[in-house]
Amino acid sequence: MSKSRTCQVLVVGGGPGGYPAAIRCGQLGLDTIIVDKDGLGGTCLNRGCIPSKAFIHAASKYEEMVHTAEKSDMGLSVSAPKLDMAGLTGWKDGVVDKLTKGVGQLLKAAKVEAISGWATFRNAKTCTVQTENGETIEITAENVILATGSKEVELPFMPFGGNVIGSTEALELTELPKDLVVVGGGYIGLELGIAFRKMGSNVSVVEAADTVLPSYDKELIRPVQMWLKKNKVALHTGCKAKGAVEEGGETFLEYEDGKGETQRIKADKILVAVGRKPVTEGWGLENMGLDMDGPFVKIDEQCRTAMRGVYAIGDLVGEPLLAHKGTAQGELVAEVIAGHKRRFDPVSIAAVCFTEPELVGVGLSPDEAKAKGEAIITGKFPLAASGRALTMEGGADGGFVRITARESDHVVLGIHAVGKHVSELSGEFALAIEMGARLEDIAGSIHVHPTLTEGFAESALAALGHPIHISA
Ligand code: NAD
Repeated sequence: MSKSRTCQVLVVGGGPGGYPAAIRCGQLGLDTIIVDKDGLGGTCLNRGCIPSKAFIHAASKYEEMVHTAEKSDMGLSVSAPKLDMAGLTGWKDGVVDKLTKGVGQLLKAAKVEAISGWATFRNAKTCTVQTENGETIEITAENVILATGSKEVELPFMPFGGNVIGSTEALELTELPKDLVVVGGGYIGLELGIAFRKMGSNVSVVEAADTVLPSYDKELIRPVQMWLKKNKVALHTGCKAKGAVEEGGETFLEYEDGKGETQRIKADKILVAVGRKPVTEGWGLENMGLDMDGPFVKIDEQCRTAMRGVYAIGDLVGEPLLAHKGTAQGELVAEVIAGHKRRFDPVSIAAVCFTEPELVGVGLSPDEAKAKGEAIITGKFPLAASGRALTMEGGADGGFVRITARESDHVVLGIHAVGKHVSELSGEFALAIEMGARLEDIAGSIHVHPTLTEGFAESALAALGHPIHISA
């Protein structure tokens, strides 16, 4: 049975870009339909940010219990903690389920119709949706918001299957791999590699660049490298994966080392985390007449594509491939469609890596600022001098907060931090940069004691030459 529908706004993709766009459209009184085949929440809620952070949290908790069982240095003791991977996966799935159901309720409250199905465009404004319950619906929309997201990159010589897995499958494992080889030492590779190490896997990382986390500067990644070394994660940097080999009932990763020689590592599972790419195939993009920007859909500062009334947001439109960027664009696009004057022009977009310890980067690093011709001053506050960090067993990992400001007017250009729990500082960092704060604004805002945020104020004081809790 085929049905026809019209609407003011059709959103394709129910991830962290698409669903906020649809909610905001609904709030603005626009007749809105959102279509997604894989359920609401997209990669972020179902296969990415949320399940991985649940997994990382559980791994850290288990590691702490094991540590406490071995050495009760806080006056606490536990005996023989056990890890049940199926139980962990079940708990994580429960968190995901709660959140995706919540998204459904929010859409309903905003009077948005959610259709579970796959949309294929015939032209820029018309698509056919094959629904999960076998219906075919033709939708013609006045406005279309494309939010189809991204998917994991597969290595052509080592596709997913058998013991070669991507992050989605890594989060579904019901048995802990004894030997895990991670290909790609970027965000996903290190976040998950560290979590598996905490749970007891032997972890090796094979990374093509000469360092892990190559998008961050050396000073910032040093504490993470220290953790990896202390916890016996084998790092093979400057090495390129070449393929998975099955021999004698065992799996090996073959890679080329820095000298061009082939090496191999035994693996129960090989986790490939070598990047993500936009989902541009299988939904009729080629019939829509849009311009492209490399692999991404080209947009302007209002997220408008080359076709009037067609907008695109999130991972589909380019770097950074971060959920919160997609969410910001989603809200903005809804308001643009409703006739509001909006422009996507953030000063910076914060990035957080949930490694051990965590990393936060907002704005320019000192080297990036210098490369742009800025004369800068910097201030650094070690978390070893933070009372709050010490009460949470932080500070001993080499963590710090670092601020980079323009020398002439003290406007803050970048803020970076590494340490336990520093991800929670990212909002204050982003706010400071977005509002054009100067060092004096940060130093002059009273920060609560005892919290890690004091480290931020101290970094500004350090840049001004008069920190209180470290020697100038
Ligand atoms: P990434 O780009 O962060 O890292 C991929 C790494 O793989 C790179 O360091 C690259 O040098 C390496 N590599 C590529 N080919 C290789 C080969 N043949 N052999 C060895 N190494 C190889 O990509 P990712 O970790 O897959 O993450 C994908 C995206 O997801 C990122 O763009 C990131 O923005 C996003 N993400 C964000 C978060 C977060 O915000 N906390 C977490 C996970 C993912």
